[in-house]
This record gives sequence, structure tokens and C-alpha cells, in this order.
Amino acid sequence: MTADATSAAAPVGWPDGKVAAAALTFDVDAESAVLSADPSSRTRMTVMSHQSYGPLTGVPRILSLLERHAIRATFFVPGYTAERYPSVVQGIADAGHEIAHHSYLHESTIGMDRDTEARMIDRGLEALDSVVGVRPLGYRAPMWELNYHTPSLLLDRGFEYDSSMMDCDLPYRLAESGQPDARDIVEIPVHWALDDWEQYAFVPGVTGSGLIESPDKVLAMWSRELDSFYLERCCFVLTNHPFLTGRPSRVQALERLVEKMESLEGLWVATLGEIAAHTRSLAPLPRHFPEPILPPASGPGERPVAGDGEGASR
Ligand SMILES: [Zn+2]
Repeated sequence: MTADATSAAAPVGWPDGKVAAAALTFDVDAESAVLSADPSSRTRMTVMSHQSYGPLTGVPRILSLLERHAIRATFFVPGYTAERYPSVVQGIADAGHEIAHHSYLHESTIGMDRDTEARMIDRGLEALDSVVGVRPLGYRAPMWELNYHTPSLLLDRGFEYDSSMMDCDLPYRLAESGQPDARDIVEIPVHWALDDWEQYAFVPGVTGSGLIESPDKVLAMWSRELDSFYLERCCFVLTNHPFLTGRPSRVQALERLVEKMESLEGLWVATLGEIAAHTRSLAPLPRHFPEPILPPASGPGERPVAGDGEGASR
């Protein structure tokens, strides 16, 4: 049985009297996102070095921050990153953090067919298994781009949660279909406003952005978001990339945010795996997220009024 497709997710009761939840997540894209978007970028030594800053310099600094505050975080690692930086990824796991799946080469999944996506997920699983011996419970799609068939692929492989959707500020159970016997996976939603990419990413010829924001502005924005999530008893999920946030002033801003988290009484700071397990224990009704059905054209030769699938998502 699934909830009405148009119903909002149910409020979440947090464990042990906690009033809200927060998770720090790190997407260790390194070179993969750039290589996937433009394979020829591998010849650009400086661009590659900008991306390698993540595992080589950012990750150790972030691990130190997390250790100082005794926080366990969730690291989403593309298989390619694991193979290229095995000791770094092993170090993340050895520090007690959760290793989760983030594709193989940060492939664009927009319009990707089911079989191709299945092979991509399997290749990522094989890499994480062979390099760090981890079978991840969580998945995050590259650029947060899920396909309607993705939840089924994840369930086939034993994943317990995904963190790529944007329809809610709370975790919920996402049904793979509207069928009565549909399986479901826990979904822990995210949003662009809580992603460092929009704030700090500047790589000529790659991002096309002309902005590098001040860490002070970013801290103010994320602090405002944290206050609001806390007041509404929601689940604050911050997404950072070590090649961006790993730089000194940005890690220091992140530490101020962590201190703010610590000051909020009853805020549960947890990994996404812990939040997913808690959500499932509450047994809320799964929700199905159906693909919109386009209305018929209103006249001869006229296009439907809604998006036609070509660039409709952006
Ligand atoms: Zn990514």
C-alpha cells in the first residue's frame, strides 16, 4: 500500500527526544565530474590539480574538523575516485565515516537507459568493494539526477536509501512504482541551497560561473537554513565537495556552522545511513512519485502546455 501520490511526507519523530536532524555529506567527485563532462579535460593539468585538491588536501582537513567535533559524516564516493585515491578513501572509512555510492565516473544520468544505468551502478559497487571492501547502503545520483527507474535498480542491489530528491525537507519512503506490491527505498532529500557547488565552484571552461562567494556569506546563508530546518523539525542535509569546501577559509566557515549545530539543543547530527534506518523504523506509508502525464495538445499542431521532456527539468 502506498500513500496518495499528491500527499506530503509525514512528519518525522526524531529519536531520543531530538527535535530535528542534520547531516554533513561530502561528495568526493575529484576529477570524475570534470572528466565525465569533457574527457579531453584530462590533458589540462591545472584543472586536474584543482579537482585532486579534494582528496589530497581537502579530505584530510575535513577529517580533522570532524574528529575535533566527534561527528560522523557520509562521504559519497564515485568508483573512479576510489580507484585513483584508494588510501584516501580507506582513510575516510577507517575514521568511522559512512562510505556511500556516487556513480562510477560521475556520469550524466539524464536520459540514461535502465541497462546503462545498471552497469554504471554495478561498476561503482565493484570499485568500492575492491578498494575499501565496502557495500554501501546509500546512493546519490550524479548532479542529483534520478531517473524514474533508478529506485528499482537500487532496490535490486540492496540499497537502503537514496539522497537525490527535492520534494520535501524530511526523509520518507519512496515507492518504486504505484503498484500495490511495490518495494520502497528511504529517500533523504537535498537542495541546491545547501550545496557548496553553487557558492564556490569556478573552473574556467567547466562551470562557466564567474562567482566565488565569500565564506562569510555562505556561512550566513547556511546558518539561516539550519535555524529554519531546526524550527520546523526537519532534516538539514548539507552537501560539500572536498575540492571546494576543503580550502582553509571554507573549512573554517564550516566549523562555525558545526559549532552552531552543537549549540542547538536537541539537534540530532547523524549519518544519512542512521537517518535512513530511523526513518524505516517509523514505518511511514511509502509514497510513489509518478512521472507527470502531459495533457493533450489543445488544438491542431499545438504543443502540449507542459514541458515536453526537452530541457524541461532546468
Ligand atoms: Zn557529485
